[in-house]
Amino acid sequence: MKSTHRALLEKSYGRSKEVKAFLRKNSKNKSLDRLFHRAHEAVFQEIDCLDCANCCKTTSPIFRDSDIRRIAKHLRMKEFHFVDTYLRLDSDQDYVLKESPCAFLNSDNGCSIYDKRPLACREYPHTHRKNMFQILDITQRNALICPAVASIMDKIMP
Ligand code: SF4
Ligand code: SF4
Repeated sequence: MKSTHRALLEKSYGRSKEVKAFLRKNSKNKSLDRLFHRAHEAVFQEIDCLDCANCCKTTSPIFRDSDIRRIAKHLRMKEFHFVDTYLRLDSDQDYVLKESPCAFLNSDNGCSIYDKRPLACREYPHTHRKNMFQILDITQRNALICPAVASIMDKIMP
């Protein structure tokens, strides 16, 4: 991870209570989606995920049935064998990776199954979706994992 990314996360750790309070205060703000989406576009002009991959190294996406079907087929594996090899059930009974970093992460931070990757990977860090008010807890947690979310919070907080 680049030092600038690390600095963004450290700043985010330092102001995590502030971030939490800001998100709580703005949970009914009708402009919240617009604020996030504008900052998301600006931040991802500056941050290249290939310099980071912290999400792939430290967290797991949820693998839905359709993800498992698609990826197992791509890898020419039986679905049960794919699940048995790479996944486990979490406390919500969702399939997640057995281990971090993700087994599909390459040494250059690329994803070896990029075109077939889970929907959750495509959508991460979820800062360009509609109804951001529904995922403020997740966003708060992601501000400690993802330098882009940390930077987005920096841009939208006073
Ligand atoms: S989404 Fe965030 S944590 Fe993942 S690689 Fe990109 S900047 Fe890093
Ligand atoms: S499947 Fe690819 S994008 Fe998703 S966590 Fe693994 S390496 Fe990252």
